[in-house]
Formats: sequence, C-alpha cells, structure tokens
Amino acid sequence: MSLLCKCGSGNEYQVCCGKYIDDNFLPETPEQLMRSRYTAYVFGKIDYIIKTMQGKALKKFKPSKSDLNEHKVEWQKLELIKHIMQNNKGFVEFKAYYLDGGQLNCMHELSEFKRKNGQWFYIDGEILN
Ligand SMILES: [Zn+2]
Repeated sequence: MSLLCKCGSGNEYQVCCGKYIDDNFLPETPEQLMRSRYTAYVFGKIDYIIKTMQGKALKKFKPSKSDLNEHKVEWQKLELIKHIMQNNKGFVEFKAYYLDGGQLNCMHELSEFKRKNGQWFYIDGEILN
C-alpha cells in the first residue's frame, strides 16, 4: 500500500515515519522523531508515543480520550517552524492542526528532546501562543 505520510513530508509513509513506527528504525534527528510522533497520533499508535518519551513528558502523559480514539480528533496538518539539534539535545517548534467537533484548532508547542544511547526521546514540551 502506498500513501503519503501524514507528517506532510511529501514522502510515502513506508519510507518516512513508517520506518520508525512500524519497522523499528531509530530516528536520527529530533525532527524525524517529532514527525513520527505526530504521525503515530494520527493513527492512534499510542505504544509508539509512549516508547519515544522519557522524563517529565512521560510522567505527565495520560492518554486522553482522543489518543485512545474514543473521542475523535482529526489531525489535519503538521507545520514545523524550527528545529535545533546540538549534540544530544534538540528542540522542535511546531504547529499541529486538528479538527475537534468540526472546529479547527491549533496546538503550538516547543518540544524538547534528548539523545540517550543513540536514541532520541521526547522529554518535555511547552505550549506557546
Ligand atoms: Zn513522515
């Protein structure tokens, strides 16, 4: 099956976020991890969301009803604003658009990542306005 990846890269899912979500490849940059986490949200792949988090982010994480697909939120689009990678730390600022009850909402976040034993993790996020 060929379909364009939900992260908006313009690449096919199987060679984009699908590599990380389904085939256990490790993202090489915080940006790739961020994109694949967004795509995992689109598909409701909560296992992947959980295994790519550590620290504060993991402690704060409670799957919401929408994550569990009980309350349907439709993710529309991911917009990357900037990403920075320095040694084993990284930041990604993004906007994620979703429809909730027919209304378009936007989540604007600055996410923090760290690399441990060669693997990137999402460790914290700050909501921006
Ligand atoms: Zn992708």
